Amino acid sequence: MTQDCIFCNIANGKTDTEFLYEDDHLVVFRDIKPHAPVHLLIVPKRHIRSVNDLTDDHRSILGDLFMAARDMAKKEGVDRSGYKLLFNVEKGGGQVIFHLHLHLMGGWKR
Ligand code: AMP
Ligand code: ZN
Repeated sequence: MTQDCIFCNIANGKTDTEFLYEDDHLVVFRDIKPHAPVHLLIVPKRHIRSVNDLTDDHRSILGDLFMAARDMAKKEGVDRSGYKLLFNVEKGGGQVIFHLHLHLMGGWKR
């Protein structure tokens, strides 16, 4: 855990952010500035800066992130209508919080 990292603080229960899901490895909560009717963030508890920093050690957490995305899409009722999964990577890729997170966005009427 990195003390001045906002997602480390959230994921380790140091803020009042409400979790939609939590297990030993990750948490899921709503994006504070949603870009879609359903906009969730799926965040590992371990501090990993970005996709660039992934190592062999992180293989299982990546699987966990995607399985949580699948489950949360169903829970939020967007699995059949469809959704986007997105990792922003570093500044040029739109990343503003440098703790790996998977965006799940859906719920548009199309
Ligand atoms: P990114 O641009 O991929 O780094 O995305 C960071 C996301 O975190 C943005 O969509 C923000 O709206 C969101 N965010 C920042 N602070 C919080 C917070 N305290 N609780 C929930 N979402 C947050
Ligand atoms: Zn962190």
